Amino acid sequence: DLRLDLAAIRAQFPILSESIHGKRLAYLDNAATVQKPEAVLQKLDGYYRHSNANVHRAVHELAARATNAYEGARDRIAQFFNTHRDQIVFTRGTSESINLVARSWLQPRVQPGDEVLVTGMEHHSNIVPWQLAGAKTVAAPVLDDGSLDFDGWLARLNERTRLVAVAYVSNTLGTVNPVEKMIEAAHARGIPVLIDGAQAIAHQRVDLAALDADFFACSSHKAYGPTGFGVLWARAEHYEAMVPWQGGGDMIRTVAFEGSTWNDVPYKFEAGTPDMAGAIGFAAALDWIDSVGIDAIAAQEHELLLYGTELLLSIDGVRLIGTAPGKAGILSFVIDGAHPHDIGSILDQDGVAVRTGHHCTMPLMERFRVPATVRASLAVYNGKDDLDQLASGLGRAKRLLL
Ligand code: PMP
Repeated sequence: DLRLDLAAIRAQFPILSESIHGKRLAYLDNAATVQKPEAVLQKLDGYYRHSNANVHRAVHELAARATNAYEGARDRIAQFFNTHRDQIVFTRGTSESINLVARSWLQPRVQPGDEVLVTGMEHHSNIVPWQLAGAKTVAAPVLDDGSLDFDGWLARLNERTRLVAVAYVSNTLGTVNPVEKMIEAAHARGIPVLIDGAQAIAHQRVDLAALDADFFACSSHKAYGPTGFGVLWARAEHYEAMVPWQGGGDMIRTVAFEGSTWNDVPYKFEAGTPDMAGAIGFAAALDWIDSVGIDAIAAQEHELLLYGTELLLSIDGVRLIGTAPGKAGILSFVIDGAHPHDIGSILDQDGVAVRTGHHCTMPLMERFRVPATVRASLAVYNGKDDLDQLASGLGRAKRLLL
């Protein structure tokens, strides 16, 4: 009784028919990376077979094809997020996008004592780059249900806050943060906001014009696209004020030994031969998401989350970490007395792929006083059968470990 035709969707993901230790694959590690549909695989293959050449450089036919496909991808990505193509800078992913902002925007401005206000549920990628740039990271508290303590966050916004940086959706808890409210409160105090959109873009509609953030970072591989590719979006005035961070081909206008000048945005931030296939593959992934419908995906994952939550809570000993209202399709849990890694290994024997560990959120593990969690995370091709397979694997894990 899920809304989408699961059989038809699954048929588009060749990897889902892999047999794992002789068992059917229940792939529930989608917050780490999602699988790729045939449409994306074919686009990548077709690019290398028929269009591969370096972009922006030569006058020959293949170079024109590659450049058109690559720049066409920028148009498509901008359209998906309802923004302008010149605001789309290509990177290797969310981490690199955040590092770019840290190096090119924050570092030249940072003064001793300056703070970046984050939350206690941030991914390491939204903590460490700010520290490397010389700022102090201040974390807003997380409530027991995994939601942000908004008043605690507000109380930490002050005259030393240079930037607010927050995950749209927590990769460990599934919490969806009140980013609109946060942007409004920060802007009222003249403080810019970076949104880490890594866990958002494949699971809910993201309209960058409506969101009104200052910076937005995301990764292709978490949205049915290829790995090693992502996007930074920023307001035009920030890009203009930012210094380049990597030098090389394409990012310059003129080069002389006395000094060089910079190309226009977005090229000013894109040194060297880019990942053409990555851009084209990501655009194809966004086409694929649109062909299913992001709202239908969100609704389906929400329904499945409710099913999975009830199912896990019906298992004696399972403790869910992260039960915030309106959360996204991520189920983190522990079973007291059994180590998450051991649970994960037993689940693997049953064909169930989950992530175990700190999920690159070590401060959050500390907050909930757990060394690690087991995390099952949903994508559009998951069904109740995957969660049932997880539950029966957990039954076996309990018999073996407790
Ligand atoms: N932020 C969040 C919330 C994430 O889930 C991830 C990926 N686990 C990242 C940042 C980093 O993304 P990437 O590894 O693609 O750079």
